[in-house]
Formats: sequence, C-alpha cells, structure tokens
Amino acid sequence: MEKETYIFSMDKKEIINLLQVRGKEQKQLHAKAARIRQEHVTDNVYFRGLIEFSNICMNDCYYCGIRKSNRTITRYTLSEKEILSCVDFCNTAGYSSVVLQSGERENQSFIDYITHISQTIHQKYPEMAITLCIGELHNESYQQLFDAGVERYLLRIETTNENHYKKLHPEEMSFKNRINCLTTLKKIGFQVGTGVMIGSPYQTLQNLAEDILFMKEFAIDMVGMGPYIPHQEALISATIDKEESIQLSLNMIAVLRILMPDINIAATTALQALNPVGRELGLKAGANVIMPLITPEKYRQSYKLYEGKPCLDESDGQCLTCITSRIQNIGLVPAFNKRGDSLHFKKREEITSLC
Ligand code: SAH
Repeated sequence: MEKETYIFSMDKKEIINLLQVRGKEQKQLHAKAARIRQEHVTDNVYFRGLIEFSNICMNDCYYCGIRKSNRTITRYTLSEKEILSCVDFCNTAGYSSVVLQSGERENQSFIDYITHISQTIHQKYPEMAITLCIGELHNESYQQLFDAGVERYLLRIETTNENHYKKLHPEEMSFKNRINCLTTLKKIGFQVGTGVMIGSPYQTLQNLAEDILFMKEFAIDMVGMGPYIPHQEALISATIDKEESIQLSLNMIAVLRILMPDINIAATTALQALNPVGRELGLKAGANVIMPLITPEKYRQSYKLYEGKPCLDESDGQCLTCITSRIQNIGLVPAFNKRGDSLHFKKREEITSLC
C-alpha cells in the first residue's frame, strides 16, 4: 500500500474546523490519526500505573474535587510501604511505568519524601520509568527529583489562554509560573507532559485550537487531556453537555496526533468517566497510552477530582484483565514490559546532543 503523505502543520482556522467535524468526516479524521499513530509509534498501547498517593493540596483550583477548601473529603497520604506495594503490583502486571500523582505541596519534607521513594523505586525496579504529577515546584525541587531518578513529569497547563486561566484559578495562582515550570522541566531534561481540560467553563474553540498550537510550539513530549467533568464541591459548573465534551476531546486527540505524530498521548480516565468505552474511543482517535488506576481501593473515594470516576470498586487485578481485553478488542497491542518512552523526546535528545 502506498504511504500517504501527511501535512504536519495546520493553522488555527483549520484546527477549529476539524474540532467541529462529526459523523462521516469525524470517522475519517480519527482513522487518519490512527494511521499516523500506527506509522510513527506502532499499534502498541503503553501502560502507566496511576498511584494517587496523596490528596492533600494547598491550591484551590475552582474545578477540582481535592482543592484545599473542600472540607467534605478525608485527607490522606500513602505510606512508603503502601506506595511500594502499588509499584510492586505494576511490576508484576508488566506495567513498566508508574505515575505518582498528588495534590500540591511545596515543602521540603514532602519533596524529600518523594525523593526517597523515587530513589527506592529506581533501585528496586531499575527498568521502571517514574513519572511525577505533583504540580508546580521550585526549580531546585525539580532538579532534586530528576537527580533521584525521576525521568518524566506531567504538569497540565489546563488552558493556554491567560485570561481563561484566571477564570479557573484563584488569584494566587499564576499562569506565568506554570509556563516557567514547564520550561524548567524541559531544561532539566525531563520528558515533559502537559494537557488541558476540554469543555471547561468559559472555554472557546479558539482557545482549544491555541492549546494544540502551544503543545506543538513548546515541543511537548506527552499529552494527557480529557473532558472537564463537574464535581459537586467545585466552584464552577459545566457549560457544554457531556456528549459534546467527549466528541471535542476525541477530535482534540486526533488533531494533535496528526500534528505531533511521535508524541505519547493518553486516553484519559475522564473520557471513561463520561462514556463506558471512552478510553477505547480515545485510542481509536490516535492515543497510545492508558493509565490503569492502582491507588489502593480504600483511598479511591477520597481522590475524586470529578463525579463519576470509574473503577472505584474494581481491584487492580480486575482492572488489568478488563483493560487488556478492551485494547485487544479494538485491534491494538497491549505493550506489557515496555517502557514506551516518548519517541519525540528521544529525537529531541538526539538533536541536543548533536548541538
Ligand atoms: N496537583 C497535580 C495533579 C492534579 S490532578 C497537578 O497540579 O499537576 C490532575 C489533573 O486532573 C489536573 O491537572 C486537571 O487537568 C484534572 N482535573 C481536575 N479536576 C478536573 C475535573 N473536574 N474534570 C476533569 N479533569 C479534572
């Protein structure tokens, strides 16, 4: 079969048009993105075991269920033993990467705790890639964590429009600082991931198109983005309906894959929260990463960022069987025991080493 030629650039108007396609055109868009994924990053679907190790947070993001002023949840932090037991499960299951995610706490003892745990994971499971998703930190803290063996960092920008950002966050939080953090992470040498919430209040299609262009311009290595889902304790409510935010999310994934063929894109849990087969749809639209939830069951209820979070009462083992068959059913390959580093990052590294 003759290889198709693809154009890896688009202007804002083209992106806005593609975000709105539905029906036959949408199917074609997703199929094209899936073909690009296959050609550039194969049909492998990589696993990242998600460990939500603490819901203590000093921030008050208006949309988030674990924001500090939500007094209705029990706060927790997993012990080192609990975290290591989750990592051990991932190792046995063949998930070659763990994501340690938490609320935000910039204090030295917290950073030292994560540093120590990262070093231990690194020593015990040298093949396991560690990803952190613990928010905005000082440059020195990022460096300390990198030196401890953390190779990947996820920090969603949430929106790349500063005015929009202000509407979703309290005054103390700064858009510029978020950009600075992403820049620092890249400079230090992390594989850097970002993402946005799709269908968040006050968002326009123009914003979403700009978000995609930002990811391309910033040369991001990994992306996790999914629909905004209201939380009953959140301070803002949804402005578009559920079905619309799913379709928009899928088109965002597809357009991003076409523009950035070699990055890693996650089919996020939020997609599954809105549609039982949401993650499969995400994979079919061009995503190549899935993040099974490994948080111990007794804590899952307390880490509800939004309503309708899936897998709250499923054991890790059940989750593994279910995800494996879901991936195979859509003709993709569950990539057990493969780290699945971002190809985009590897190329970026090669270029830097030549300079
Ligand atoms: N404190 C960490 C982790 C935050 S939770 C950090 O700042 O990186 C991880 C992500 O969940 C957030 O970045 C946000 O994009 C998403 N999220 C939070 N509330 C949400 C909601 N109501 N709907 C959909 N996604 C949400």
